[in-house]
Amino acid sequence: MTRRVAIVTGAGSGIGEGIAWKLAEKGFTIIATDIAGHERVAGEITSKGMHAEAYRLNVTSVEDAERVAREVVGKHGRIDVLVNNAGIYPSKPFLEMGLEDWERVINVNLKGVFIVTKAVVPYMVRQRYGRIINISSIAGQRGIAGLTHYCASKAGVDGFTRALAAELAPYNITVNAVAPGIIRTPGTMKGVPELLEKLAETVPLKRIGEPVDVANLVAFLASDEASWITGQIYVVDGGHIMKWP
Ligand code: NAD
Repeated sequence: MTRRVAIVTGAGSGIGEGIAWKLAEKGFTIIATDIAGHERVAGEITSKGMHAEAYRLNVTSVEDAERVAREVVGKHGRIDVLVNNAGIYPSKPFLEMGLEDWERVINVNLKGVFIVTKAVVPYMVRQRYGRIINISSIAGQRGIAGLTHYCASKAGVDGFTRALAAELAPYNITVNAVAPGIIRTPGTMKGVPELLEKLAETVPLKRIGEPVDVANLVAFLASDEASWITGQIYVVDGGHIMKWP
């Protein structure tokens, strides 16, 4: 049997790295893509006897996305799973936010999801099989001060997920999103780590999430057990959204 193939964007760090490891453990060949860190992650997965390859893919580049999709199908014959995980969340008060700040976040988080999905879907349609999993955020459902661009981008990802699910269902392609709460990653640790620990106290389950908490659900949605689930947004947040903000 040929090994199933999963592309993960932003796989060089944090949640994307966690997803790459989990899907590798489940037997997928991982196409670890990013603008940094993807070679390290693919190398570490391979060194444990599992299957991974590294590709440079800036999600804002149509050229990168089309090249990676073409090369992966050329080599493996198929793309079973796409995880749109790459994202950025620079905080800025709205009164100080310029159009360039807005566009930077929308370009990576929302336009990037469109670009990579657009490059991959034709192959999934051809093989009449596909699993697309978008990494959204509880920020798409709750207002967070300083993150108007980010909240808008993730609400956009949620809408995109539902609409695309309706369009691609006839091709046996499911499209779902996972919306994490606060997860301990290099991205969130860049801020003030003590703040993360303080935030943990406000989470009903009393801890910050780990990348594996998100990866476990992604692995389920990528599996055959999830074949009748599409167009859904799943919150993974230790119950935080019940109390936020
Ligand atoms: P992170 O900063 O640790 O990792 C993000 C990765 O995305 C990095 O490796 C980075 O190089 C890559 N990336 C950035 N811009 C890119 C681009 N243009 N093209 C390709 N790759 C690019 O972040 P994280 O915390 O692991 O977040 C991953 C995803 O999860 C994001 O979409 C984020 O919005 C979402 N998320 C994170 C949290 C959290 O608390 N960490 C919560 C909810 C949602």
